[in-house]
Amino acid sequence: MKLFGVLGDPVSHSLSPVMHNAAFKALGMDCEYHAFRVSPDSLCDAIRGAYALGFGGLNLTIPLKEKALEIVEPSEIAKKIGAINTVDFKNGIVGYNTDGLGAKMALEGGGVKIRGKNVLLLGAGGAARAIAHQLAADGASVTIANRTHGRAVALAKEVERVGKAKAADFCELKSLIQNSDILINSTASGMSPKISETLVTSDMMHSSLVVFDIVYNPVNTVLLKEAKKAGAKTIDGVMMLVYQGACAFKIWTGKTPPLEVMEKAVRERLE
Ligand code: NAP
Repeated sequence: MKLFGVLGDPVSHSLSPVMHNAAFKALGMDCEYHAFRVSPDSLCDAIRGAYALGFGGLNLTIPLKEKALEIVEPSEIAKKIGAINTVDFKNGIVGYNTDGLGAKMALEGGGVKIRGKNVLLLGAGGAARAIAHQLAADGASVTIANRTHGRAVALAKEVERVGKAKAADFCELKSLIQNSDILINSTASGMSPKISETLVTSDMMHSSLVVFDIVYNPVNTVLLKEAKKAGAKTIDGVMMLVYQGACAFKIWTGKTPPLEVMEKAVRERLE
């Protein structure tokens, strides 16, 4: 049997075990995926230990994604993003970042084209970094607004190297949204336990806007409810979770996992 796992702290809330185990079962693979609580100080031992034990691969979550760069050989894109969420052991210890691809696939899977679109990205944390790099590389013009403005400015400067990006003032969201095709919330605003929080309300949106909230707990965030009120198209965070997981699965096993099985497992657990 092959073992896989997610490392994080905390990690008991992770939906990755239920999602990947459902995929392994559906494909009849003799594999198991578990969650392991690991502190940043123990990350090096944990990754090397998993490698020595013959694990098939790992995912990393908060607060380990940046720290992992000190330990693994990063892919080109993971190096640019500055964070790793997937570790593969086939050719040494190699780190990838599948969050940006997951977001791109969630948008495209929802029928949204990226090239040439004006994207307003809220947040400048780990997930925002991956999304900004991916969408700018795919031809979108990305405007980054973050509560801590300096982080938005720094991220925009980095992303400018791969495509069109600029930072904007968090206080001007209404006018920024009027000039945007796609609004993405990649902040923790609206995430459990602060489920009544939203940075944008329906009066700030327009009906041709696409609103993508990467928060998946709860699935139907207040931001998405407000977007529906405004007649905007909505995409929830579950599909990004599923697609980033599917990309990791493919890296580890070479197989394309059953997306609908993974999505069903995640939605059932979230309910
Ligand atoms: P992170 O690195 O800790 O970054 C958090 C970001 O949220 C920062 O930009 C922070 O702004 C901002 N923020 C936090 N609370 C806020 C508030 N009340 N108002 C405004 N801004 C706020 O976290 P992350 O890894 O990027 O994750 C962000 C969210 O995305 C989480 O809800 C996470 O669950 C979700 N996520 C979803 C997926 C998926 O697959 N669907 C994948 C990854 C993450 P400051 O810089 O000012 O602190």
